[in-house]
Amino acid sequence: MKYLLFLCLTPCVVFSQIRSKDDEIKKYVSEVNSDSLQSYIKKLVSFNTRHTLSATDDQNKGIGAARNWVLGKFKDYAKNSGGRMEVYLQQQDIQPDGKRVDQVFNLGNPIAFLKGTDSNDKRIFMISGHLDSRVTDVMNRTSFAPGANDDGSGVSAVIEAARVLSKSSFPASVIFVAFSGEEQSLLGSKMLAEKAKKENWQIEAVLNNDMIGNTKSGETNETNDRVLRVFSEGLPYMELDKKAMSIRNLGLENDGDSRQLARYIEEVAEKYVKIDIKLIYRNDRFLRGGDHSSFVNQGFPAVRLTEYYENYDQQHQDVRIENGKQYGDLPEFVDYNYLKKNVAANIAVLASLAKSPSKPEKVEIEVKELTNSTTLHWEKPKAGKLAGYYVLVRETESPIWQKRIFTKDLSLKIPLSKDNYIFAVQSVNETGNLSIPVIPAIAR
Ligand SMILES: [Zn+2]
Repeated sequence: MKYLLFLCLTPCVVFSQIRSKDDEIKKYVSEVNSDSLQSYIKKLVSFNTRHTLSATDDQNKGIGAARNWVLGKFKDYAKNSGGRMEVYLQQQDIQPDGKRVDQVFNLGNPIAFLKGTDSNDKRIFMISGHLDSRVTDVMNRTSFAPGANDDGSGVSAVIEAARVLSKSSFPASVIFVAFSGEEQSLLGSKMLAEKAKKENWQIEAVLNNDMIGNTKSGETNETNDRVLRVFSEGLPYMELDKKAMSIRNLGLENDGDSRQLARYIEEVAEKYVKIDIKLIYRNDRFLRGGDHSSFVNQGFPAVRLTEYYENYDQQHQDVRIENGKQYGDLPEFVDYNYLKKNVAANIAVLASLAKSPSKPEKVEIEVKELTNSTTLHWEKPKAGKLAGYYVLVRETESPIWQKRIFTKDLSLKIPLSKDNYIFAVQSVNETGNLSIPVIPAIAR
């Protein structure tokens, strides 16, 4: 941590009843298995191509066979869920669009919905990857397109998360989804995000995994098997015109919902897994897209998780040998130990979110008086068992939260000027599971 806040804050008491790590989450992390991950990817590659426009009526080849296989895995795990996991294919016939769709086809997202146990808790947390694969020509629907890393790795994370978490019950709901149509312009994720928006789903986090198993950079000969990147938008895509002025006035350019989620991922993933989370302050890579954007565009907090180095000789390439060099997205190029850590990080974050109390309501900062202290107040969360709240503090130029003050009260006066720091409030339960922090609004 580069920035340290050396401050003695009066209410800074350590409350021993709150554990720093949850034993159940430690157990989930230990259950992630690299052989399972390898077997999922091997199976996904065996469908020859998972191109979105490939066959849906062939038993063994093409996107139809692939999505049936994913649905079958989900159905197996649903048997352990005590009837709480519902498995279905969200589907729709799509017409040619003159761009990356040149024929009518059936678009389908295999989904497993693990229903929360608390009927008052409407929150939904989502893990996703994309099932479809491609070669050099994005319209080629017949050539061998293994898609082991792009995005077999992301889909393997979704399947493994469903396997590990389906046996447990959480107050909030969790969605496991393998999108189709990513390479044809994010069609599957758009279909789900639009439905979620229309039906007012309370999605509070989307962890979209797209290429999380490669460690070698290719052309620069560098390797990294320690760092996972988390991309998050700065200014919100949705209704920026309406929000820009208040973001500007309050200096909250770095505190949108997706950025808040990214910070949460860094903290929780690094607590449970030996991994470095690298926050990338942009929505996605140059010239590239991903399924998280479909959710961000509808106003849901969503991030992209991606390996540190991408290998451009492997992704979106025809499988071939040229000048003695192997091209193509083959399973032998995936680093299964690195993948295992990244999948474990996802599972730790998902479980932590699904177990946490919901966010405190109506978090506000008082601005009536000119003073060198700060008063925050808030209301109880709508759902979840609560041990108390943490008020989070950081300097305005610090990327991460630096100080955490515990309280059981619904307000706190902090001997720090609101002009010099950024504050947030989060709920916490006795096993240390934290809600996503809430930035205070101005009290009126
Ligand atoms: Zn991809």
